[in-house]
Amino acid sequence: MISEPLRLPKYSIGVGDRFALQVRAQLQACILAQKAGLEIVPVWNKSNREHLIVGSEPSQTRQAADRAVRDLQWTRPYFLDADHIGMGTVDRFIEPCDFFTIDVADKIGAPAEQAGITTFVQRHPELLETITLEKAGVTLATSRENLVAVARKYLAAVYEAGRIYRCIAERKGAGRFVPEISMDETDAPQEAQELLIILAAIADEKIPIQTVAPKFSGRFNKGVDYRGDVEKFSKEFTADLAVIAHALGRYDLPPNLKLSVHSGSDKFSLYSAINRAITQAGVGIHLKTAGTTWLAELEGLALAGSSGLQLANEIYAQAYEKMEELCAPYASVIEIDRRCLPQPDSVKAWTAEEFAGALHHDANCRLYNADFRQLLHVSFKIAAKMGSRFTEAVRENQKIIARGVTENLFERHIRPVFLPA
Ligand SMILES: [Zn+2]
Repeated sequence: MISEPLRLPKYSIGVGDRFALQVRAQLQACILAQKAGLEIVPVWNKSNREHLIVGSEPSQTRQAADRAVRDLQWTRPYFLDADHIGMGTVDRFIEPCDFFTIDVADKIGAPAEQAGITTFVQRHPELLETITLEKAGVTLATSRENLVAVARKYLAAVYEAGRIYRCIAERKGAGRFVPEISMDETDAPQEAQELLIILAAIADEKIPIQTVAPKFSGRFNKGVDYRGDVEKFSKEFTADLAVIAHALGRYDLPPNLKLSVHSGSDKFSLYSAINRAITQAGVGIHLKTAGTTWLAELEGLALAGSSGLQLANEIYAQAYEKMEELCAPYASVIEIDRRCLPQPDSVKAWTAEEFAGALHHDANCRLYNADFRQLLHVSFKIAAKMGSRFTEAVRENQKIIARGVTENLFERHIRPVFLPA
C-alpha cells in the first residue's frame, strides 16, 4: 500500500527540548494556538551537537514526543527533526526522525566540477532573463559570469545534499520524511538571486525539499534579539518569499515549500515584519526556536527559589568558569561581552526574582542582562553533567517551569509571528 507522502503543514514551529522534560509544555503551546483558531504543528528538533553535549539519543526525543501527543490527545501532525545532520551524523536519526535538516553549509564554496557547472548554465537560460517579482517590488537580473560564479559556489553543496537525501530515502523510503536544506551556518548571507539559482539546482538534483533555510543578513544570536537592520531584513525576507513563489511555478519542487528561519527564537524585533510578509504573501513558514525552552526551564527553576535557585546559581558559576569551552561550538551564533557578566559570587546573593529577571528576555526590564542570558544558553552542558540532580529538580518544580515554557512559546513566539496582528 502506498500511503500519502508526509507533508509539512503551512505553519510549523521547531521546538527544542534539551532534556526531553518539556515536550508536553511545548505541545500545550500548539494546543493554545489551536484554541485561538490557528493550526500550527510542532517539530521537535535536536541537533547532533546537542545530543553529543547532553549525551542523549534521538530515540529518547521520539519516545517523549509520542507520549506527550498521546497524553494530550493531539490529533494533528507532528514531526521529529534530525537537525543539522550531514553524511557522517545521519545514522542514528534515520529510525526515529521524519524530518531531516540537511546541512551543507560547509560545502558552500567547495569547487564543483566544471562539467557540472557548464551543464547547469546551459540547462537554465531562463535564469539569465530579467525576472520581476512584482509583489515584492524586486527585479532580478544576472549576467552569465555571475550565474557561473553562483553555480561554482553552490553546486558542490547541492550535490552533497542530494547524496544525503538519497541515503535517507533509500533507508526510510521517499515520501516518508520531510527534507530541509539549511545553509544558515555560514558567513555570507544569500541574496534573493542566489536563492533562486540554488532552488533551480535543488530541483535538478530532485531533492523534494519542503523547507529551505537561507542565511539572512544581521546577527541571529542564540536566545537574544536580532542585531541588524530590521528594514533590510524585512526587504530580504519578502524577496525570498517571492523567489520561492516564483521557483514553485518554474521548477519541480513540492508546492508546500517554505522558508525555515533558524535561530528564530527571541527575535522579537523581527516578528511583526515576518508576520506582515507571510500574511501579505499568503504563505507559511517554519520557525525554529529550540534554545529558548531551555532558558525558560532554567528561569522557572530559579523562580521556584530555594534549591531550584541554588542549582541555577551553580550552573551559572560553573558556566562562568568554563566559558571558553562552552562557547566554542557556538562561536558564530553568540556574542558575549564578558565585561557585562556578573561575578558568580554576586549572583549567589541574588533573589529568585533578580536571577529570573536577569535571565528573562525583556529588553525593557532593568534587570535583564543579554550577556548573562547568552552564557546560560550554552551552559546546558553543565546541567547535563549534573545528571539526575538537575532532572529531579526540574521534575520537582515542573508546574512553574511548564507554565513558563508554554507561555514563552505561545505568547512571545507563536502569537506575534503566526496569529493575525
Ligand atoms: Zn540552524
